[in-house]
Amino acid sequence: MAKVLIVDDSRTSRKILRGILEGYGYEVIAEAENGEEGYLKYKEKAPDVVTMDITMPKMDGIECLKIIKHADAEAKIIMITAAGQKDKMMEAIKNGASEFVTKPFDKEEIKKALDTVLGA
Ligand SMILES: [Mg+2]
Repeated sequence: MAKVLIVDDSRTSRKILRGILEGYGYEVIAEAENGEEGYLKYKEKAPDVVTMDITMPKMDGIECLKIIKHADAEAKIIMITAAGQKDKMMEAIKNGASEFVTKPFDKEEIKKALDTVLGA
């Protein structure tokens, strides 16, 4: 099963997302709470797919998306967006985001995004 890295500054969001992903059989190989840590974990763990929150301290999800894609053009990154982030979504598309999932989390929406990204 695909290996997933969760990048989100909210412990609650990470927990919910992990539960949903594991429920579908995905392996959550690491979690990170900001973009800096997310980049380091990406390099260290080489996940098949990343779920990337946008608003985070230190380094946000857009910056983290940019540096991961710069290091690995094939990286598959699903952006986690909230209401009112249309500009950020456009920026993420421009920078190579694979898919989008909106908060609050919907199990089926997450599964669909992963299937699309992983070509399942
Ligand atoms: Mg956040």
